[in-house]
Amino acid sequence: MSSHVFGRSAAQLPTALRGDGCYLYDAEGREYLDACGGAAVSCLGHSDAHVKAAITRQLDALPYAHTGFFTSEAAEDLADLLIQHAPAGIDRVYQLSGGSEAVEAAIKLARQFHIENGEPQRHRLIARRQSYHGNTLGALAAGGNAWRREKYQPLLVETYHIDPCFEYRHRAEDESLEAYGHRAANALEAELLRLGPETVMAFIAEPVVGATAGAVTAAPGYFRRIREICDQYGVLLILDEVMCGMGRTGYMFASEAEGITPDIVTIAKGLGAGYASIGAMLCTGRIYDVIAQGSGSFQHGHTYHGHPLAAAAARAVLESMASQGLIAQVQARGDYLAAALQDRLGQHAHVGDLRGRGLFRGIELVADRASKRPFDPALKLHQRIKAQAMAEGLMVYPAGGTVDGREGDHVLIAPPFIISEAQIDTLVDRFATALDRAID
Ligand code: PMP
Repeated sequence: MSSHVFGRSAAQLPTALRGDGCYLYDAEGREYLDACGGAAVSCLGHSDAHVKAAITRQLDALPYAHTGFFTSEAAEDLADLLIQHAPAGIDRVYQLSGGSEAVEAAIKLARQFHIENGEPQRHRLIARRQSYHGNTLGALAAGGNAWRREKYQPLLVETYHIDPCFEYRHRAEDESLEAYGHRAANALEAELLRLGPETVMAFIAEPVVGATAGAVTAAPGYFRRIREICDQYGVLLILDEVMCGMGRTGYMFASEAEGITPDIVTIAKGLGAGYASIGAMLCTGRIYDVIAQGSGSFQHGHTYHGHPLAAAAARAVLESMASQGLIAQVQARGDYLAAALQDRLGQHAHVGDLRGRGLFRGIELVADRASKRPFDPALKLHQRIKAQAMAEGLMVYPAGGTVDGREGDHVLIAPPFIISEAQIDTLVDRFATALDRAID
């Protein structure tokens, strides 16, 4: 294969040729069980007949119409479907081409909201260490990985980072989960008071942290306290569900499990499920109305926003999820996967933490279980596990992150929702083998 692809060293990667159900096949005919959906993307597997037919139909009828001139049935239907599933109060949808675009739009919307609401001085953003929000400049500013941001300073959005809610690493031994959740959330209040709350536009967080931390769920009550603090200080709450949304955690929106409604929420990945490049930003009527009654419109737009072909694919993804009862299945298969991982790896000398929700599971590897000491970052253990897993015919996501200022080793398991129990057994078998080979 030629290696003119700009980016990763494509020459060293196998060439993907074909997908079928939960499996991918390369040009040499090797089979890979997809246990991470790439990056939690392929929630329907690789050959959903309903989605493929819907794309073909839309392609025959109309691939594209610019949103400056037309709306389309596909985009309208998709917006309606998303609103039906969204937390109460969220009733506006803006369709984009991916996750970073959705986060950018969310940040801009928050800024415009405050300007038109008579508080133009609110321009700062608070985010969390150990988070990922995308690679465009605004989203990059929000992300928690300092090493990703370093080269591109100064970034465009003035962002401050607080610690995430991460009980495995940060809860004190004698502290209850609830007390820890409350304490972790209060870090937001402390940061607001330090900065001056009247200068802050929004707080952004992933309800379940994905790419940088391996499925870290928040302690009970954390997000309810966050919601209270945001309301008290007039700060908007943006939840980034690009990875954990769209059914991945057993809820269509991960925030449902937290019992709160964000002001703005972003989704992508599972929305197109790999069949289309699509993301969306959703917000409450309260936000939209301020802008509608102010300047009249959100100062934004992309050539491919509301793309009919992408919207038709996403509409079909939601239909497929509903007709196959996949959200309920995520809960059941997620429990099965969690039990199988616990059974096989719960006592493993180097498995520090098994965590997650639904079919969004994280495994944290440590050099020493008692002290939770991470492996030497130079080993890049998470990358070695990924490589060994590929050799075993298994795709897992190497979610390296930052543990206490150091590189940590997390692996994310996020298989398609259609995975069977037998396939989960294979997944856990192959993973356990890959793990031991990587550590050897
Ligand atoms: N937010 C989160 C939580 C993500 O996980 C990602 C992608 N890993 C993004 C935003 C950016 O999405 P995209 O890669 O589609 O731009």
